Amino acid sequence: MKDLIVLKNLRKVYRMGDEKIVALNDINLTIRDGEFVCLLGTSGSGKSTLLNMMAGLEKPTRGEIIIKNHHLEKMSEKDVTKFRQLNIGFVFQSYNLIPTLSALENVSLGLTFKGVPKAKRDKMATDMLKNVGLEKRLHHKPSEMSGGQQQRVSIARAFVGKPRIVFADEPTGNLDTKTTFEVMDLITGMAKEWNQTLIIVTHDTEISVYAHRVVSIRDGNIEKITINEDILKEGNL
Ligand code: ADP
Ligand code: MG
Repeated sequence: MKDLIVLKNLRKVYRMGDEKIVALNDINLTIRDGEFVCLLGTSGSGKSTLLNMMAGLEKPTRGEIIIKNHHLEKMSEKDVTKFRQLNIGFVFQSYNLIPTLSALENVSLGLTFKGVPKAKRDKMATDMLKNVGLEKRLHHKPSEMSGGQQQRVSIARAFVGKPRIVFADEPTGNLDTKTTFEVMDLITGMAKEWNQTLIIVTHDTEISVYAHRVVSIRDGNIEKITINEDILKEGNL
């Protein structure tokens, strides 16, 4: 399988007044096309910083982020946004849905940037909301749905354009155990069906068992990488 995401000497330092916070020290990592990688680590270890950087949501202090031969760190804000709209889906811990829009509108919104006509957008969004079991909630606003339902809307939003890469930052962090497994099954099932590359951040070792590779992050560094042979054998990597 081909390399899809390459990180070279990635460093991120935040400045808070006089204080310097080294969120990422020196990260080197390659993720292959179709791989499912879990970034595992305790709170404050740098997981979200790393994910946001790969998704083009933040710029590194130093180092390279190369996706499909594009250098994200060299792109303008406008070009990164375009690249993200075309290639990347993102699931946030706190859902980040637009409160004034219905489930259907939240899911179809991202397709406008891809130039999909309205009737097709609505059909794709409706089909995707059916996939996540929300066919009876198409016109509900986020405040009219449970946490698990809101997260399923945000999953539908991330997957509706069939992006090459899906990032998820603690997607089950606000959910109960039963809903956690339902949501994990949905995310991993769709990514597998469409051969997408999936990168999930978590501090929960129960979630990391789903992944091909588990990258343990500690104090802004990669501490170790564990390969999950059983899961690898099931797939086609
Ligand atoms: P994790 O997702 O593993 O909990 P983060 O990547 O959010 O960790 O944070 C890593 C470190 O960087 C933490 O010490 C955090 O306080 C710091 N940090 C994250 N974002 C910012 C920011 N915008 N400004 C200053 N410090 C930040
Ligand atoms: Mg985080």
